[in-house]
Amino acid sequence: MRGGAGVLGDFDGLVCDLDGVVYRGDEPIAGAVEAVESLRARGVSVLFTTNNSRSTVGGYVEKLERLGISAGPDDVLTSAVVTRDVLAERGMSGARAVVIGGDGVREELRRARIEIEERPDATTVDLVVVGWDPHFDYDAMRRASLAVRSGADLVATNDDAAFPAPDGLWPGAGAILASIEVASGGRAEVMGKPHAPMMEAAARRLAAAGRIAVVGDRPETDLEGGRSRGWPTILVLSGVTSREQAAGLDPPPDLIVDSLADLASSPF
Ligand SMILES: [Mg+2]
Repeated sequence: MRGGAGVLGDFDGLVCDLDGVVYRGDEPIAGAVEAVESLRARGVSVLFTTNNSRSTVGGYVEKLERLGISAGPDDVLTSAVVTRDVLAERGMSGARAVVIGGDGVREELRRARIEIEERPDATTVDLVVVGWDPHFDYDAMRRASLAVRSGADLVATNDDAAFPAPDGLWPGAGAILASIEVASGGRAEVMGKPHAPMMEAAARRLAAAGRIAVVGDRPETDLEGGRSRGWPTILVLSGVTSREQAAGLDPPPDLIVDSLADLASSPF
């Protein structure tokens, strides 16, 4: 562990990334379930956040419960939820959107009463919303870029370039988004970590906390997002960042731990 006792101050709110921190794929990371319990017992409110917009909040709640972590919908913040809230606040209810993405983003947009345009030839819409979609193809790219060129706002749930899979790094929503930006000449407003909409939404969810810290396995999203708010940053080595990579980070995280279990057993 880098740093030492008290390096983070007494935080009572924790923005906690999911993949690479609580679980990897469908397997819990050793000690993570007990660590969440022990943090909660110390009075820390834990908000689980993910840039992954494919699954629904209900899906994440079920997954956490299955792993042994009690959670409700308010304990999980996805980039799809942030996208919904921002668009709803802007009065986009009733807007029509071309959507690239899975159930998570589609469900949230419907909740904001945004109409999803499914007709393949309809490209005159108000919005193009981009998330991760394994079925993304040239047709989808064409629809999205025609819509943006016709004046639709371009919004992305997140811009992660890649994510870990068993055989290496797979292209993320950011790679899909980049193709649409190149094709359309547009620039997206991005909702997920480290961008302001997600970080502001996390701050609102943890408004009752006196001091918030952020924990994640990705410096460029989790930690950068925390830093942008002035929150202490904790890097876990249970995800995509190796010890060697961690040692070379500039700026360095406030704390580096092997896993969430190490954080829970530390004096902070
Ligand atoms: Mg992660």
